[in-house]
Amino acid sequence: MLVTGGTLIDVDGERVADVRIGTDGRIAEVGPTLAPLPGEEVHDATGRFVIPGGVDAHTHLHLPLGAIGASDDFHTGTVAAAIGGTTTVIEYVTAERGSDPVQRLEDWKRRAEPASVDVAMHMTFTEAVAEGVVAECVERGVTTFKLYMAYPETLQVDDDVILDILTMAKRRGGMVTIHAENGGAITALRRQALAAGRTGVFEHSRTRPALLEGEAVARATALAEVAEAPIYVVHMSSAPALQALRAAQERGVAAYGETCPQYLFLDVDRLADPDGENFVCTPPLRDPWHSEELWEGMARGWLHTVATDHCPFWVADRHAGMQARPDGWRDFTEIPGGLPGIETRLALIWDGVQRGKLSRSDWVRLCSEAPARLFGLWPQKGSLRVGADGDVVVWDPQRSQSLDADALHMATDHSPYEGMTATGWPSLVTVRGRVVAEDGRYVGEPGYGRFVERAPIVRD
Ligand code: MN
Repeated sequence: MLVTGGTLIDVDGERVADVRIGTDGRIAEVGPTLAPLPGEEVHDATGRFVIPGGVDAHTHLHLPLGAIGASDDFHTGTVAAAIGGTTTVIEYVTAERGSDPVQRLEDWKRRAEPASVDVAMHMTFTEAVAEGVVAECVERGVTTFKLYMAYPETLQVDDDVILDILTMAKRRGGMVTIHAENGGAITALRRQALAAGRTGVFEHSRTRPALLEGEAVARATALAEVAEAPIYVVHMSSAPALQALRAAQERGVAAYGETCPQYLFLDVDRLADPDGENFVCTPPLRDPWHSEELWEGMARGWLHTVATDHCPFWVADRHAGMQARPDGWRDFTEIPGGLPGIETRLALIWDGVQRGKLSRSDWVRLCSEAPARLFGLWPQKGSLRVGADGDVVVWDPQRSQSLDADALHMATDHSPYEGMTATGWPSLVTVRGRVVAEDGRYVGEPGYGRFVERAPIVRD
């Protein structure tokens, strides 16, 4: 396949060039005016941008939650990903307490079989593990380990476990990714709210203040500093969190940060809307000034990636709550948290480029290159260099796309961006040289996506 006349954007800069993807699915040649080979499929990308396929480093395509569960699966979620320009997702496997993490990984891999884009996985530990378990995961291509500093009933681990796993991960060429919120303090605030009869949606945000996110980022990065290990903070939502991350970076800690479009485009007032329950996510949406800090943090390189934390629900499930009550949730602690986003990430960050908040190369770095590098997928993913996988997005900067739920492909009947129209959308998306989406339509094949084993990360 030959993609001609587009403006390439990647780590090597911005230039007009043609890209050839060979029959092995890899990029075979990049250069000005390549001549088509006999029988070669040619796509004219004149006036468009050609970028490495998006890498979404934080998805939940399978997530049971109480009596309900996230609404996408690996089929529907990766179709939506492909249409929006994401060609690799990194899914979070959860090893619940008492379960065998390696068995959970195999369960998730089986669920991922219908995927239409490539899939890698992170492992979430919810209790102490032996180093052999970490080693076994690395052996199976899973090199990143998520830990929660919140949700004490089900997910949270204490600082001793965090320090141990930071040390083990580092020794095995892996990295810890962390959900940074002070779970103990949040538990007390929730208890106080309920005791005072404050049960509405808005309490979700009032009981998870930004200060407690900042405290947890400071603590997590201090633990990483002591362990001399890298750390990656997921879904950073606030200025205090960013400030704590920067402080660690200035001390020389390998501290990386992820944010998500919801923290850039939505603010906490949505929780006061009549459909506020549909905007519950964790960390919660913040006051708008935090978003401005996050945009600046991305432009300056203090935040490294934009992922989605994609975790959609049907409106009816959202309303029934985690106890699946026919008459609806009884207080805010029963509302499932998570937003759809796997399809709209590239378009939303592109919108930031159009508004002058980021450069085009920032967009590619944040959405594709940096997550590939940080998670050991580079240069196979996130790159247009010869030899990389032929994961290519032709981006049409003129194409309009409604962000209403009806116009999108994620398995949900609610869109956080209802009423918004994006300008800029993929006109062609390939995974390893095969077209999976064209002009906003899915043309791929369920099951084509592969599980990508990641190599241990070598650090200097
Ligand atoms: Mn998540």
